Amino acid sequence: MKLNLDGQQADLHFESVHLVPGRGGCSRLHPHFHTVSVSLEGEPSERGMLIHIYRLKEIVSRLCLEFDHMVLVAEYPSDVMTVDEEDTGYRINVNGKTYLLPFSDVLRLPIGTLNVEDLCRYMAESLLERLDPILDTRRIVSLTVEVDEGNGQSAAITLSTER
Ligand SMILES: [Zn+2]
Repeated sequence: MKLNLDGQQADLHFESVHLVPGRGGCSRLHPHFHTVSVSLEGEPSERGMLIHIYRLKEIVSRLCLEFDHMVLVAEYPSDVMTVDEEDTGYRINVNGKTYLLPFSDVLRLPIGTLNVEDLCRYMAESLLERLDPILDTRRIVSLTVEVDEGNGQSAAITLSTER
């Protein structure tokens, strides 16, 4: 059986800003409106549930909140982008420009790019980690996460719950 949370209808979304190294519009700070959909697959418990759906929703929602209204910064090679900590924030050099952003506005992610694929994988792994304490992995076999970054662009990944 599959248990699904549709990001659009379940209000699982976040708005964030980023820029990508290179030229053109994407090299300047720009927003994306993301929605995050999640499904779990496995056998229901004796009580007929895969997981309490509100519990699942709460965990996904909390993750979305951490990304909401933040400037996302990936770990690009230092010849592409440098991020230095100063007294009040990060000094980011990229595309021949310098940005000084307060610590509170930046979410640094341990991923190589901010492509929707990398973002999706990172969010799926983070969710699996957070679900781990409450997920009965004898019954639940996989977690699928789909991240939509707007404009009909999305990525999805299915992770096995086996360790
Ligand atoms: Zn973008």
